[in-house]
Amino acid sequence: MSQRLLGIGMTSRRTRERMAKRLQEQGIRDNRVLNVMIDTPRHIFVDEALASRSYEDTALPIGHNQTISQPYIVARMTELLLEKGPLHKVLEIGTGCGYQTAILAQMVDKVYTVERLEPLLKKAKDHLWELKLKNVSFRHSDGGWGWPEYAPFDGILAAAAPQEIPETLLQQMAPGGVMVIPVGKESVQELHRVTRTGQGFEDEVMERVSFVPFLSGKG
Ligand code: SAH
Repeated sequence: MSQRLLGIGMTSRRTRERMAKRLQEQGIRDNRVLNVMIDTPRHIFVDEALASRSYEDTALPIGHNQTISQPYIVARMTELLLEKGPLHKVLEIGTGCGYQTAILAQMVDKVYTVERLEPLLKKAKDHLWELKLKNVSFRHSDGGWGWPEYAPFDGILAAAAPQEIPETLLQQMAPGGVMVIPVGKESVQELHRVTRTGQGFEDEVMERVSFVPFLSGKG
């Protein structure tokens, strides 16, 4: 592996192990998620000037007014998505720089990821390519439409908060499928986990969160 991927000092594996320990203290229990986060160099997803801060538990700017989600929220959403069993096909809305995508790609068979801002999608493609993660398809689109050609999905994960869960996304869930999505206005959002059951949908409210808004149309 290249030195850039391995990291050094503040970007080394030791630093990622410390991050995982903190995540565990914050309540993350799924060791598979923690191990994938130890293996994944988060520092390559942010600008070089921010690399030394990339394992702090904070969101960091990735350009275009967007942020890379904080490690805790990435871990928590992944854990919630996978808690009910292994997933084959997952749709991600809001690729951003691709860090969450990279975590998912190592834990499910196939990831379909949609981003409305093309420059970010391009960055994400480069990062996943560098990590040799090939089980990801990218689409420049408004994620509110989902990705009908590949529906239904066993899992859907959204990294931006709509005011209500888009009906289109509910319709693209497979029976037994799980969606993890922040819902609400800025500063008062809640993380929901929706499961498609034989009868309809089960909606669990998990915790308070803070995400960028889910915007419509392409940027
Ligand atoms: N998990 C990403 C989070 C990026 S922030 C990361 O760690 O980098 C959320 C992203 O959602 C932003 O890039 C924003 O452009 C995107 N977004 C917001 N509304 C969207 C929509 N309707 N469709 C697709 N992407 C959207």
